[in-house]
Amino acid sequence: MMMLGLGSVGLVLLSLAVQSGHGAQDSAVWSREETTERNYYTRYHNMSEITAWMEQMKRENPDVVSSMVYGQTYERRNITLLKIGLRSTERKKAIWMDCGIHAREWITPAFCQFFVKEILRTYKTDTKVNEMMKNLDFYITPVLNVDGYIYSWHNESTRLWRKSRSPGTGGCTCYGTDLNRNFYANWGMVGVSTDCCNLFYCGTKALSESEAWAVTDMLGKMREDILAFLTIHSYGQQLLVPYGHPNTTAPNHDELMEVGLGAAMAIKAVHGMDYTVGTSPDILYPFSGSSQDFARLIGIPLSFTFELRDKGEHGFELPEDQIQPTCEEAYAGAQHIITYTHDKAFYSYAATVTATLWTTLLAAWVSSAILL
Ligand SMILES: [Zn+2]
Repeated sequence: MMMLGLGSVGLVLLSLAVQSGHGAQDSAVWSREETTERNYYTRYHNMSEITAWMEQMKRENPDVVSSMVYGQTYERRNITLLKIGLRSTERKKAIWMDCGIHAREWITPAFCQFFVKEILRTYKTDTKVNEMMKNLDFYITPVLNVDGYIYSWHNESTRLWRKSRSPGTGGCTCYGTDLNRNFYANWGMVGVSTDCCNLFYCGTKALSESEAWAVTDMLGKMREDILAFLTIHSYGQQLLVPYGHPNTTAPNHDELMEVGLGAAMAIKAVHGMDYTVGTSPDILYPFSGSSQDFARLIGIPLSFTFELRDKGEHGFELPEDQIQPTCEEAYAGAQHIITYTHDKAFYSYAATVTATLWTTLLAAWVSSAILL
């Protein structure tokens, strides 16, 4: 077959589909725009590409997308979130999602991008997504650890960088603090290191890192409004619930487990992947100072850590051909949690009324049956 030249990706796909005999059900009917979009979300993107993408999301969806800089990294870069929701004159409830707190977990910024793309693609036609966009605002940080993420893109030797990029203190010459050990939640107690060269170094004190401080500050301001906190990591295929400290139990532990198990079922239904649900002491290892635990401690009821694919075969270097299936299943899991959260907040009264009505009808039916 002759190559059709640049800009003919759609036509190439059409030819390939015809050649392989799959016809219209394949990619033959994609427009060039759709093809470009599909390609975009099956690749990893560096920080400047993600920054440009955030601008593009705002430009293409000015009615529902805005951005907010809510902190700075050690190297003085902005930490930016996208706020997504239909405008309202009333104060809205919120869902928090952050990705890229650990630099090497590249699948996680890819997931935040996929999530944003999906809610923007569906909210006009999917009545449930539309309803949630009316009632909720989504606060989504595609890359929280911006310095670390940029560093992980430098070269092969830095690809597996995990921590922030702040220098050690007190004569320690290594760099970086584990941001997910630096929050004010049983800080420094378990599953951490005080050696600044260690991967799990928790910092000199709680919130020593400006990135952890930025999240803490935002959560503090929005505490009353945030219904669910989702922080996205890889790898391990797990949904972690608070707390990471083995001697503390969340007051709504049963609810967290039930919702988490429902999300795992939703995930499995997409591509058959198994996700384990539980507290980190139960299914991973105990650790304190996490953002998930901090969110739950300050009263955000539904707080989850996603550990995306895989289970170790590729680990942090998940091949690009797994980006789309990983994001599709994780999207289903996140939607399960968000839908539960939304319906609990906005339908609990309606659900009670419906349940009462059914009880009354059942009682009436039973008594009439006895009379007969
Ligand atoms: Zn992580």
